[in-house]
Amino acid sequence: KSGFVALIGRPNVGKSTLLNYVLGQKVAIMSDKPQTTRNKIRGVYTTDTEQVIFLDTPGIHKPKSRLGDWMVKTAREALEEVDLVLFLVDADEGIGAGDRYIIKRLKEVRTPVFLVVNKIDRVHPDALLPLIDTYRKEFSFKEVVPISALHGNNTSTLLQLIVEEL
Ligand code: GDP
Ligand code: MG
Repeated sequence: KSGFVALIGRPNVGKSTLLNYVLGQKVAIMSDKPQTTRNKIRGVYTTDTEQVIFLDTPGIHKPKSRLGDWMVKTAREALEEVDLVLFLVDADEGIGAGDRYIIKRLKEVRTPVFLVVNKIDRVHPDALLPLIDTYRKEFSFKEVVPISALHGNNTSTLLQLIVEEL
């Protein structure tokens, strides 16, 4: 199985950390020049039977200018070309206005989207399940996957779900 996976989300939610953990090397840091190319390859996860190509798709964030509007359109088109979108949010900060803007735009895209709730190590264990449950009910993501990219919690489950979707 092989396919393209776009990784999106606000700055600092942990996109690079997730890629570093999954790929086991510091490839995601290579170049962080934002909003230049669409669907820049950030890394490839390969096993004997699978190849997952992770891409960076900038520009889906709330635009501040006309050029920004164009970026959002371009980003939306780019997301149509991939097999799966991973939308990362910060479990500790929760889903804010900026995230909700992205969620609205993602509804306009036909590609399946997983909500990846990162930094669960910063949430009290008793609060985690209710939080995930709320997200499952409030939004209509294909999957809602809690992880800690920093510590690797549940990242193998995420990878398994990704591969199943391709
Ligand atoms: P990006 O801007 O989305 O690529 O975010 P980064 O991967 O650069 O991460 C931003 C910050 O969040 C860094 O200081 C990371 O160490 C931290 N971070 C990322 N994932 C986790 C996590 O699972 N738990 C905690 N506690 N911190 C994390
Ligand atoms: Mg980054």
